Amino acid sequence: MLYNKLQDISEEEIDSLLNRGGELTEVKSQVEPILTDIRNRGDSALNFYTKKFDGAEIEQFEISPEEIENAFHKIDEKLIRNLKKAAENIRKFHFAQLPEKLWFIEIEPGVELGQKFSPLENVGAYVPGGRASYPSTALMTIIPAKVAGVKNVIMCTPPGADGTINPLTLAAAKIAGADHVYRVGGVQAIGAMAYGTETIKKVDKIVGPGNVYVTTAKMLVRDKAEIDFPAGPSEVLIIADESADARMVASDIVAQSEHDPQAVSVLITTSDILAKEVKDEVIRQSAAAKRHEIIDKSLENSAILITDTVQSCIEFSNRFAPEHLEIVVSDPESVLEGIENAGSIFVGSYAPVSAGDYASGTNHVLPTAGYAKIYSGLNINHFIKYLTIQKITKKGLENICDPIISIAEEEGLYSHADAVRLRFDH
Ligand code: NAD
Repeated sequence: MLYNKLQDISEEEIDSLLNRGGELTEVKSQVEPILTDIRNRGDSALNFYTKKFDGAEIEQFEISPEEIENAFHKIDEKLIRNLKKAAENIRKFHFAQLPEKLWFIEIEPGVELGQKFSPLENVGAYVPGGRASYPSTALMTIIPAKVAGVKNVIMCTPPGADGTINPLTLAAAKIAGADHVYRVGGVQAIGAMAYGTETIKKVDKIVGPGNVYVTTAKMLVRDKAEIDFPAGPSEVLIIADESADARMVASDIVAQSEHDPQAVSVLITTSDILAKEVKDEVIRQSAAAKRHEIIDKSLENSAILITDTVQSCIEFSNRFAPEHLEIVVSDPESVLEGIENAGSIFVGSYAPVSAGDYASGTNHVLPTAGYAKIYSGLNINHFIKYLTIQKITKKGLENICDPIISIAEEEGLYSHADAVRLRFDH
């Protein structure tokens, strides 16, 4: 783990923190042939790659409603209640994001303009399942699609070597409202959803996170299916001052690191004392953690940086554009005001990333690798499109006919100008 004053770290060290996500281009040559094969051979290629990468022989990719129903019997009732509670909060927050169904504004007399939205028809949700299983991601991807009104939401997730899926992921898919669920993951699942196979119907858009192979595959199928954004290995950046609790800060670094060896955690702080305490705590907590092998690898990409001012923490954070940003300082509002790039922001000691990962209701599918500079985390807008409407009276058209005619003629589109003129010829 890098540990230094921000002003003393080398250009290469800054570069490796800011220009992360290079693995996406590194695995492109491995991902492309798999996609081509799925496109050409459909289900038989799905079988081949599922055997190769997941070790599973699959007879039927679609999981039947009975199998999903049976999953509920294998899960503790309390866990189901908790899953439903998380689902309820996610649903509430995404309902609050729904725009007005239809609105109009009178731009000038006789010219009424409006907008309505309409949902996408077919959406594919990718739910990861390699190093960990992610029932929470089933909730995060399917619920917003259903709240937006998407008719057909399918879910793909990788099977274990015995061909089964974690029952909690299946229960989450059902609670969230998935229409079809398939036991297929990785690049092959993305290819199947983008191109369609004998069993899996092509979708209009693919959403959901995944490892570098999955994320690269999503970037490569965009000619056939729209995607949300690159949501790869997880990251957190924590801005903290001397008021922060070192144990709590360290616990969020360790938690983030258990996702993936490529996960990245950064603490940037104005306090030398906090930096040292967090470093010691990270060592202590990671040694005791169940997934310490993944955590140790991930910590190699991570950093504790010390600066003199909160302003330089803000500037660094905006350059880093973290997937998750925690603000643990005595005056969080002033930091919040300066933040321009971040997937999801967690304010205060009692808003750990884990809250947003599971149950507070915000979405955990978020742009990584600096893409928070240009993309928003998963939300209702990813599942709808806006249609503009105009209602114009004869008087209204008269009011705007001069600009229409003169600009159209200047562009050489004389018939456009005539289409307006003839409406006034009597
Ligand atoms: P995954 O489902 O993304 O990947 C597993 C699949 O990867 C396997 O089924 C296999 O088909 C494929 N694969 C493995 N090795 C391969 C290879 N050499 N070539 C081609 N394909 C290969 O599950 P995972 O690996 O556990 O990764 C989940 C990722 O999702 C983590 O990086 C985690 O941080 C991330 N995540 C991100 C967000 C977010 O919003 N950004 C949210 C949750 C999880």
